[in-house]
Amino acid sequence: MSESEEIETGEQAEKRTGDIHECQRCGREQGLVGKYDIWLCRQCFRETARSMGFKKYS
Ligand SMILES: [Zn+2]
Repeated sequence: MSESEEIETGEQAEKRTGDIHECQRCGREQGLVGKYDIWLCRQCFRETARSMGFKKYS
């Protein structure tokens, strides 16, 4: 009797170390808006804020 168990160790090192601020949505580094510990570019921030129910900020 032989039981074959495949143990796959998948190490996904996608997380970068360091203080690299980039849009957590599209990965852009330009026009980042860091608020609420969330880094988003202006475009994504606008859409996210909109979907989150933020009021228009002028
Ligand atoms: Zn973005």
